[in-house]
Amino acid sequence: MSTSVSRSPRNFIAGALHELPRSGIRDFFDIVSSMSDVISLGVGEPGFDTPWHIREAAVFALEKGATGYTSNRGLLKLRGAISQYVARTFGLAYDPKEEILVTVGVSEALDLALRAIIDPGDEILYHEPCYVSYGPLIRLCHGVPVAIPTGADQSFRLTADAVRARLTPRSKALILNFPNNPTGAALSPQDLRDLAALAVEHDLLVITDEIYAELSYDDEPLSIASLPGMKERTIFLHGFSKAWAMTGFRIGYACSPPELSEAMMKVHQYTMLCAPILSQEAAVEALRTPESDIATMKSAYRTHRNFIHSALEEMGIPCCRPAGAFYAFPSIAGFGMGAKDFAVQLLQEERVAVVPGTAFGPSGEGFIRCSYATALDDIKTAMQRLNAFLQRHGR
Ligand code: PLP
Repeated sequence: MSTSVSRSPRNFIAGALHELPRSGIRDFFDIVSSMSDVISLGVGEPGFDTPWHIREAAVFALEKGATGYTSNRGLLKLRGAISQYVARTFGLAYDPKEEILVTVGVSEALDLALRAIIDPGDEILYHEPCYVSYGPLIRLCHGVPVAIPTGADQSFRLTADAVRARLTPRSKALILNFPNNPTGAALSPQDLRDLAALAVEHDLLVITDEIYAELSYDDEPLSIASLPGMKERTIFLHGFSKAWAMTGFRIGYACSPPELSEAMMKVHQYTMLCAPILSQEAAVEALRTPESDIATMKSAYRTHRNFIHSALEEMGIPCCRPAGAFYAFPSIAGFGMGAKDFAVQLLQEERVAVVPGTAFGPSGEGFIRCSYATALDDIKTAMQRLNAFLQRHGR
């Protein structure tokens, strides 16, 4: 007969998870999904379907019986296509056999990169406001997240001085994501050179999340990995979700020096095994004509960006001009409401969903994220409703 006292389900859960907050975006969109007639500027998802020829490649592969595992690293033909694309677009040469790993989105690639490098107590620096997963993933690896606030006064750019001020002997890596979710900020070539010099001087690894690289409206993509001395200390992450509108395919990749790639491979082979074969086949097709697929969507996003930025400014809401990605991050600090209250009231009174800036870290207080990847007519209606809301609340 057992004498042990049984644990409640909650008590089985690891301590690191108790401390982890739920994603602020999820919480908010649980409310949105229970309402009707909402215009959503909330989700970080392209407003386009995946180009047909890419979907067709997945269908065709299925018809041909592509239903099995692939090699852990991913189909060699896909790694070859990635290698060529990254060389052409970013001027970076990665060996498809040893330096490229195909992953289940940039999400998995981020997790692999962090699991491959973090020993308990290692400090990982990143700019904030930022993509929701950086801090939690670092915590799950028993690392220490070191958020570096960026502000509207510097167009949400990360400066080398701001990083330097937070370095300690335990600093191991710096995560970068420019063009940025949620702010739309980009870094100048000089910003990148300064950060690269700092990384070399202080022996930091850089994990660069390039998921919005192609959606840069003013400049050609430039990755920190391509600067002198950086390729050997950078993990370059990219994927198909945004510029190719392939979020549901769950496909991305990590490029890095062979030792780091092998370390990530170890985690990948025991956890994911391989990325889904149909998504890999679709990605091969996506890289056959990347420039023309991206050009159509990017030109629409640019029009939306110009519209939403002018509309916000005309309403008297300060907003840095988004340089890339598909988000505007206006300041609502002048309205006497916190970001969450503002977003909830806007939703309830005007049926417009935006994400409170605090979902992207405490330094997002006073801001809301508006995605402009949605239809232009919806953006126009959303701006009229926002204007009505502001009039009512005294502006
Ligand atoms: N990184 C950033 C900055 C993102 O905004 C997102 C998704 O919104 C991801 C990574 C995750 O992308 P994926 O769909 O490739 O997992």
